[in-house]
Amino acid sequence: MEHYVLLYYCYTQIEDPELFREEHHQLCLDLDLRGRIIVAAEGLNGTVSGSQEACEAYMETVTSDPRFAHCEFKVDVNDQPAFQKLHVRLKSEIVHSSLSHIDPNEKTGTYIEPGEFRKVLEDEDEDTVILDVRSNYEHMIGKFKNAVTLDIDNFRDFPEKIAELNKYKNKKVITYCTGGIKCEKASAYLLEQGFENVYQLHGGIIKYGLEAEGKDFEGKCYVFDNRIVKDVNSVNPTTISKCYVTGEPSDRMVNCANPHCNKHIPMSEEGAKIYDGCCSAECQQNPDARTYDGTGFYQKELNGYNPYKDSKRLKTEL
Ligand SMILES: [Zn+2]
Repeated sequence: MEHYVLLYYCYTQIEDPELFREEHHQLCLDLDLRGRIIVAAEGLNGTVSGSQEACEAYMETVTSDPRFAHCEFKVDVNDQPAFQKLHVRLKSEIVHSSLSHIDPNEKTGTYIEPGEFRKVLEDEDEDTVILDVRSNYEHMIGKFKNAVTLDIDNFRDFPEKIAELNKYKNKKVITYCTGGIKCEKASAYLLEQGFENVYQLHGGIIKYGLEAEGKDFEGKCYVFDNRIVKDVNSVNPTTISKCYVTGEPSDRMVNCANPHCNKHIPMSEEGAKIYDGCCSAECQQNPDARTYDGTGFYQKELNGYNPYKDSKRLKTEL
């Protein structure tokens, strides 16, 4: 069976985010969707999966609300469900950024669409900087050709890297991320810091893969669902990451089987055999090391998971 995977965000004003969260959670339950959604006064951010009918009904319901009329969905098709659980959470920001003072509806970088961005990548103009605003574990496994990457483990550390970026102040800077949401604030922050020529890849790597064949994206795109990584480049795909154990090319992301290490790293199937799914002999010897089942993916127990947990309506009322 085909499963649709939706990725979307929308900066808009939500007057009563708590009530909205409750109603939105109910909508997802009614449609039997799974995934992760964040609701805040500044908007909505989510990735969900479900049947084609459910996902289409969801998109129609969301965009029929005038507050979300401009919400754009990236739609992927997967042969398996991308999530096992549903979480609809209320937070202070829809992406944790340390940039809560910025409203992208007031100021943000100019959108550049995938087709135009593809030409920029082909031109390799020295006065244009392609800036990846994602974290280490994401750009390690895939990034655009010639992109500048940052040594950060979390997007909230992006503003700390401004000193490093000041040398690009006189250049045209184009930011990108997975689905576009981080760039809304990252590009706005660059403008705030005195950068003048700031653009953002509209819809991020995912939309670029869907609309511009992913050309010149090197490696795979890290995604926040069960797939972990996803192919986006159907023109000139490559592998840029190396197996942590063998050093051979590999874009298979795993966690070290030692739960105290849990390092999130590329490891080939061959490499994983060496230390039973651990990153080192030391981790392998840890008495708590988990059994390596060939996936390197240690799903938290589903025991006791109840999608209705945060919902006021009880399951029996459905
Ligand atoms: Zn380890």
